[in-house]
Amino acid sequence: MNTLTVTALEAGYGNAPVLHDFSVDLPAGTITAVLGANGAGKSTLLKAISGLVPRTAGSVVLDGEDVSALPVEQLMPRGLAHVPEGGGIIRELTVTENLRLGGSWRRGATARRTTELAVAEVLDLFPGLAKRREALGHQLSGGERQMAALGRALVSRPKALLLDEPSLGLAPSVVAQLLAQLAQLRDDTGLTVLLVEQNVGSALAIADSALVVALGRVVARGAASELRGDEAIRHAYLGY
Ligand code: ATP
Repeated sequence: MNTLTVTALEAGYGNAPVLHDFSVDLPAGTITAVLGANGAGKSTLLKAISGLVPRTAGSVVLDGEDVSALPVEQLMPRGLAHVPEGGGIIRELTVTENLRLGGSWRRGATARRTTELAVAEVLDLFPGLAKRREALGHQLSGGERQMAALGRALVSRPKALLLDEPSLGLAPSVVAQLLAQLAQLRDDTGLTVLLVEQNVGSALAIADSALVVALGRVVARGAASELRGDEAIRHAYLGY
C-alpha cells in the first residue's frame, strides 16, 4: 500500500514551469531519497506536493484519498507534514512552544491533550532536545534546530513526511545522528518519508529507494542499493 502517490505532476512559478510529468510512489514505512544537482527542482517537488507551489496538472493521493484539490491547510490534518529547508523554527518561541505548533491544526475538546502527549513523546524520542526545551529558537545550534523542526512535524502525527535537506550546514557527525534517527522512526513507527538530500552517500545509506532529478524530471530511480552501485548515474548526476 502506498502512503503517497504523485502522478504526472506539473508545477512551477508563474509562467516558469519547473516540474514535468513527475510521478513518485511512497510505499508505507519507507524512505525515498530525492537526489539531484542544485536547481533540479527537488524543493519545488516537495512544495508542489504540499500545495505551497501551485500545481498545473497531475494528482496527489494521500493514504488512498485524492487530495489534489484541497487547500494547503487541510493537508496537515490528513497526515501530510512538510519540513522546509532550514526547518522554519520560530526564533522567538521556545522549543516546547515550537513543538506545540505541530498540533495547532487540531480542533475539539481533546485537541490540547493530544498535542501535549505528542510533544512529550517527541521530547522522549530526542533527549538532546528535551534538555533544551526552554531554549528559544534563535539559541539553538543547527542540529538542534533541525531536530526541533522534525519534532514539530512529528507532533502532527504524519502519515507522510516531506523533509527538505535536513542536513544543510550540519557537521558530519550530527548529520549521521539525524539520519539514523529518521531510519529508526521508519522502522519503529512505520513513518513514510520523502527526503531531499545533497548528502548523497548518507541519504542512500538509510533510504529504501531513490530517484534522481534533473531539470524537473525523474532521470533515474531504483532501490537505494542499486543506485549506490551504479557508477554511470553517480558520475552523471550525483557528482561522486
Ligand atoms: P537546491 O538544492 O538549490 O534548493 P532544488 O533542486 O531544490 O535546488 P528548486 O529550489 O526546486 O531546486 O528550484 C528549481 C528551479 O525553480 C530553479 O530553476 C529555481 O531557480 C526555480 N525557483 C525556485 N524557487 C523559485 C521561486 N520562488 N520563483 C521562481 N523560480 C524559482
